[in-house]
Amino acid sequence: MRLIDLHTHSAASDGSDSPTELVAAAHAAGLAAIALTDHDTLAGLEEAGAAGRRIGLPVIRGCELSTTADKALRLHILGLWLPRDTGSLEERLRELRVKRDSRNERIVGLLRACGLEVSMEEVREQAAGESVGRPHIAAVLLARGYVKTLADAFSEYLGRRGRAYVPKEVMRAGDAVRMLADLGASVCLAHPMLEKPAPEDLAELIPELIEQGLSAIEVWHSAHSDEDTRIALDLALRFGLCPSGGSDYHGANKPGLRLGVGYGNLRVGEDVLENLKRLRRERGLPV
Ligand code: AMP
Ligand code: ZN
Ligand code: FE
Ligand code: FE
Repeated sequence: MRLIDLHTHSAASDGSDSPTELVAAAHAAGLAAIALTDHDTLAGLEEAGAAGRRIGLPVIRGCELSTTADKALRLHILGLWLPRDTGSLEERLRELRVKRDSRNERIVGLLRACGLEVSMEEVREQAAGESVGRPHIAAVLLARGYVKTLADAFSEYLGRRGRAYVPKEVMRAGDAVRMLADLGASVCLAHPMLEKPAPEDLAELIPELIEQGLSAIEVWHSAHSDEDTRIALDLALRFGLCPSGGSDYHGANKPGLRLGVGYGNLRVGEDVLENLKRLRRERGLPV
């Protein structure tokens, strides 16, 4: 069985590979298909799609949105099989990127108040694309020698307990799901166990999200332990969601995390993709 990877990031957001490089790497890794799911931007999709067609690798058009839900849960939502006509989505994503910009400026302000010499200009230079965020700021801190690793940048400054933490203004989970579902995307709850929520809290929220159009849940993910995977698979079965999976590849921005296999043990088979496609066909949606 060939492997697939339905959660990847390019330099259009906070990955290090250009879309073309990402597709080439996926092909070299022998993957049967990938989805490009950059944060808050569709800017990499055309290039990735073209590279995929040249090389013979199917590239599913996706994106990832950060959201909040009840129980103070922060949920990431993937839209897969985004249509080509994305006018209304583009508008909404642009608003999210504007919010990112003002948040980034506040973070840089806090870093400067900590005595660190960092500028928004440098941060923008770190970012190849239009969706700029904390990983780019982390790269600046690393380049300037203020931290020894990207992970340290998060634990010391940028993460939830960091000295320059600024929460991100995000959409409500149900609204994000509805917006993507209305476009005909397959909507997937990403890495549900990333922050180790109580599974029952997730179970309480999922029916509302399904009502808004959620149809899949990321069972296999690099940050999921075996136990997390089991919990997510249970949720999929319990609520009739399609199991999905991906590595959350970010290139050099997540060291040690490889396409398709994550930190080594991830395996998402082609049958997962076939299953997602079957559901789309049943609903009359294009694949
Ligand atoms: P942002 O969207 O600007 O809040 O940045 C979120 C991104 O930062 C995530 O997608 C991860 O790629 C990265 N990230 C978040 N927490 C950490 C961490 N503790 N260590 C390394 N990268 C992180
Ligand atoms: Zn990311
Ligand atoms: Fe995520
Ligand atoms: Fe991601």
